[in-house]
Amino acid sequence: MPVQGLPPYDDNNIFAKILRGEIPCKKVFENDWALAFHDIAPQAPVHVLVIPKGKYCSFADFSANAPAEEIAGFARAVGQVARDLGLEAPGYRLISNMGEHSGQEVPHYHAHILAGRPLGRMLPKT
Ligand code: 5GP
Repeated sequence: MPVQGLPPYDDNNIFAKILRGEIPCKKVFENDWALAFHDIAPQAPVHVLVIPKGKYCSFADFSANAPAEEIAGFARAVGQVARDLGLEAPGYRLISNMGEHSGQEVPHYHAHILAGRPLGRMLPKT
């Protein structure tokens, strides 16, 4: 079911093309639920994107419409990627942008894993 106020899923978004193998990515993890790869424009020494394999535009769409099994599979994949990258001890930041105010650019739900140095405050003071 579409989430009110959001456009339908766009099959031509860049992450859909990556999932179809039409655009390359630097893959770090893949299973039935998720694909993880390095961000093309990293904002930290480690910047990995984790995306579900299903077609969801955003967290709003994913949380409302994905089956519980897929939500669990994706969440576990995010945790595993962070563990596999050795990030649990130093720590990491997990971010999902949703919609205009967040600055979400790619309309396929994704989690950013940011790490590799102290990241400071969650948002700069304004
Ligand atoms: P958003 O702003 O939607 O939360 O984040 C989208 C992210 O996708 C950005 O950090 C951007 O650098 C990254 N990105 C955009 N296009 C590509 C691409 O073609 N390949 C990869 N690996 N990352 C991309």
